[in-house]
Amino acid sequence: MSRKFPYGVITGNAVIEIFEYAKENLFSIPAVNVVGSNSINAAMETAASMNSPIIIQLSNGGAIFNAGKSLSNISQIASIKGSIACAMHIHELARLYKSTVILHTDHCYKKNLQWIDGLIRANEYYYKKFGKTLFSSHMLDLSKEPLEDNIKICKKYFNIMNKCQITIEVELGVTGGEEDGTDNTNIDNKKLYTQPEEVSYAYDNLGSISKNFIIAASFGNVHGVYKPGNVILRPEILENTQKYIKNKFNTKKNPVFLVFHGGSGSSEEEIKKSINYGVIKINIDTDLQYSFTCGVRNYMEKYKEYLNKQIGNPTGEYVPNKKFYDPRIWLREGELSFKMKLQKYFKLMNNVNTL
Ligand SMILES: [Zn+2]
Repeated sequence: MSRKFPYGVITGNAVIEIFEYAKENLFSIPAVNVVGSNSINAAMETAASMNSPIIIQLSNGGAIFNAGKSLSNISQIASIKGSIACAMHIHELARLYKSTVILHTDHCYKKNLQWIDGLIRANEYYYKKFGKTLFSSHMLDLSKEPLEDNIKICKKYFNIMNKCQITIEVELGVTGGEEDGTDNTNIDNKKLYTQPEEVSYAYDNLGSISKNFIIAASFGNVHGVYKPGNVILRPEILENTQKYIKNKFNTKKNPVFLVFHGGSGSSEEEIKKSINYGVIKINIDTDLQYSFTCGVRNYMEKYKEYLNKQIGNPTGEYVPNKKFYDPRIWLREGELSFKMKLQKYFKLMNNVNTL
């Protein structure tokens, strides 16, 4: 059987080729936030089980956690090294898992730009040495800046990244909710809905450099999962945006590669609609965090009497409990629960056997 895309980490123009393939075939790729080898391996295992591409991404905080919480992050050193370590883990193992991975970094705010500076240096080094960058793509989130400043800084970075064909993700409007220490829960409601003119401005400017860019435009989406009715998604904003740009630049249908942040807790209908309007990447973090924890919690509850002491359980006063408290046992339960939830999202995104 021939595969459309190889196993391993996808870099260069092949990244946009996968997105193009997804857009044409009306599926989306889950972008999964990872924090260490448990979530990284579970993500690769799930992608292989679905025979479908996955995006594995690190937030700044996730990268720091991967490096280790005791380290100082002065000059973004822990987030740079934690990201590189994660990337090397995935480069080493993705093919062995038989998974096809787009390796990405999530929101980088203006105050953290040194993080991306460090990763660009690492990418350039690997590109020169092996003809392949470490990361497939990076996101810059300057959505708190005025639009012109946002795009100006993104263009500067995109010009540099484009020299080794790295894809850029930019954010327009603001994703509501709270993630990774950035709290947008009380943001002005207007900012939660991006205007077609703003996307058009970004499309025009970034397109002058290369086609390797994707845009997170807000349509009422938020990070996190809240009480039903609190989040009002308006996917028609995405539809209007695509139509506006198609007419203005005389392109084919759905010209923009769109990203849906805060996908956790979304309905099948919302996901389906957004895919129809050109969303090729849907970020899933909160639901997977919860699933991992549920797997561990269920195990702890089930084996409570085997975990209270090292020796002695209901089967005997002096029976050792080592095989119950070995962290490999309960961490694996977290991984399996994470995998089950993620498989559901692959199905919701119509991304099954797409490779
Ligand atoms: Zn996000």
